[in-house]
This record gives sequence, structure tokens and C-alpha cells, in this order.
Amino acid sequence: MAINFDDYTCEFCGKPCKNIVYAAFVCDNPECIENARIARGGPGGHMKRKAEGRPIIPEDLESAVEENKKV
Ligand SMILES: [Zn+2]
Repeated sequence: MAINFDDYTCEFCGKPCKNIVYAAFVCDNPECIENARIARGGPGGHMKRKAEGRPIIPEDLESAVEENKKV
């Protein structure tokens, strides 16, 4: 999938998008990249689950979503 960065702006400061990190459009500013990392859920993200030896499977994600709805 080709992405034209010119069509996007940084989600945090509104400057032209230069990167996609942690599923967020950001510019080159390290602060914005850090913001994206935090917004994503901190260091590791889903990789943290993997490090804990827990499987990353769709069923598991769906149950996690259900749990979030209850809270
Ligand atoms: Zn930015």
C-alpha cells in the first residue's frame, strides 16, 4: 500500500507528516514520536505481551475488547 505523506499531517503538532510510528502519523519531531509512543500504550505495546509468553491471537484480542467494555 502506497501512502502519500503529503496527504497527512502530524497528529500532534499539525506539521506535514514525515513518518508513521506506532500507527500514528507524525512529523520528524522526536517529541511527536514520543507522544505517539505514549498514545500507543507505552514501550513495547503488543510486543510486551509476546515477551510475557502470551499468545497474540485474534480470539485473545476480542476477549480483551469485551473486558474493556465492561469496565
Ligand atoms: Zn509533529
